[in-house]
Amino acid sequence: MIIDQHTRLYGVTGYPIGHSLSPTMHNRAFSAKGLNAVYMAFETRDIDGGLKGMRALGIKGMSVTLPHKSAVIPLLDEVDGLAKRIGAINTIVNDDGRLVGYNTDAVGALKALEEKLDLSGKTCIIIGAGGAARAIGFILKENGVELVVANRSAERGKALALSLSCPFMSLSEMEKATADLLINTTPIGMIPRKDRCPVPEQILKKGMAVMDIIYNPLETRLLKMARDRGCLTINGLSMFIHQGAEQFRLWTGIEAPVSVMMSAVKEALEV
Ligand code: NAP
Repeated sequence: MIIDQHTRLYGVTGYPIGHSLSPTMHNRAFSAKGLNAVYMAFETRDIDGGLKGMRALGIKGMSVTLPHKSAVIPLLDEVDGLAKRIGAINTIVNDDGRLVGYNTDAVGALKALEEKLDLSGKTCIIIGAGGAARAIGFILKENGVELVVANRSAERGKALALSLSCPFMSLSEMEKATADLLINTTPIGMIPRKDRCPVPEQILKKGMAVMDIIYNPLETRLLKMARDRGCLTINGLSMFIHQGAEQFRLWTGIEAPVSVMMSAVKEALEV
């Protein structure tokens, strides 16, 4: 690809973002589709300045990650309805100078789950109450899943449970809990602390579905335990690729090359 005066610029902003796989994934997707576009990492604590730069320089689209996913909302011209309900965005589209926010984590998680199971009438425990838990909670509720939120901080957990009109339980209460589906949205088990697991082993029952949104490592301790106990397991890679594919579609108006994006991320993760 030749970078010239017509090249469209995209990127990811957050702090820190040195570990982000989004540049690898999106640049491979642009090149697979023959688009004159590049995607960069813009690490900053200053989201206000970052958005001014995006407007002034005509950056066409931005992925937004921690810690800016909620703080960025008042700086946008428009926010999509689902993202507004979630209270967090992870994608900005620069539509001829108007910055519009979306949350593709929600649809990414939904697609990753629907690839493996039928969600209708299912019960689900979501562990965590941060940005990812909010995105997943709202989209699952809108798809008829009966939810319970389990979180370390009762204050944050109860606030999410209230917005989802569902019960809250503490992490210690999970010992007695049962559900068709369990989703870990906390960083417990992520590298470098791969030995950790967010739930006691006995709650993992044969036939249950267990999703971990962590994708490094691909098989977390939770997923390994779940597999050994006869559960259906879903790793975080599929959610990551689908949220990125939805960003690509919002930015370019064309379908994303999902298998190319998957290979690029797998290569980067060396799996
Ligand atoms: P966040 O807003 O910071 O929320 C983190 C949540 O994890 C909070 O509920 C927090 O509990 C809980 N937590 C953190 N450390 C904990 C610990 N040691 N013990 C118990 N609970 C703990 O983060 P987020 O944006 O939701 O992201 C969470 C994870 O999801 C990250 O690992 C991120 O990389 C991953 N993620 C993956 C994808 C994907 O596409 N696969 C997309 C988005 C995020 P408190 O409320 O008590 O602090």
